[in-house]
Amino acid sequence: MRNDSPKHQGQRMQLVEQLRERGIQDENVLAALSRVPRHLFLDSSFEQFAYRDAAFPIRAQQTISQPYTVAFQTEALQLPAGSKVLEIGTGSGYQAAVLAEMGYKVFTIERQKELFDFSRPLLSKLGYRVTQKFGDGYKGLPAFAPFDGILVTAAAPELPEALIDQLKPMGRLIVPVGDVSDDQLMHAIWRDEEGGTHNETLGNFRFVPMLKDVDTQR
Ligand code: SAH
Repeated sequence: MRNDSPKHQGQRMQLVEQLRERGIQDENVLAALSRVPRHLFLDSSFEQFAYRDAAFPIRAQQTISQPYTVAFQTEALQLPAGSKVLEIGTGSGYQAAVLAEMGYKVFTIERQKELFDFSRPLLSKLGYRVTQKFGDGYKGLPAFAPFDGILVTAAAPELPEALIDQLKPMGRLIVPVGDVSDDQLMHAIWRDEEGGTHNETLGNFRFVPMLKDVDTQR
């Protein structure tokens, strides 16, 4: 099994400085990214590139998000340690590890069995206590709702109403919405104390598609 090393730690510190220069300001987010060994979430053939600010292919034709995107979405949650956060699209498990480093109580769903089987032992070996589910996250995780934050790491074709319904008052949903043939627009959606819904857009990103109504049989 591969492990962490001073070389990787040094590369991570450089990456964190790049993210700071690109505009990530939340010191808790930067500290969280400085602690997660991203190279362990990538195939060993990509290990030397793990601390570049780039997305890379993982199993099942999916991608590990670019560190900037992971930092941006985490920062957009604007939640204190102890918050209950649901991630849709576990993929490699990297974003879930960053959320765990933020001190959140993390739930994550993945619909590709191969990725679920990869990320589950990895997160647990690294000591991250994350509740992982295999299945379709399009409808959220009603059994564990409501959440302080929901973070979607695949492009949703439209605003996912079921996820909005699973937010606590003042809870935040961070979701890229739009067609996958083009960029998607990152949305932050939150509910106020009176039940009103607010929607702010945060810029353009590019994600793999969020699939819905799929067969996720074992
Ligand atoms: N957060 C991941 C990035 C994964 S890419 C990481 O840090 O590595 C997006 C992931 O969303 C893919 O693994 C894809 O299989 C998953 N996905 C797409 N649609 C989904 C759905 N409806 N439910 C759960 N996961 C989904």
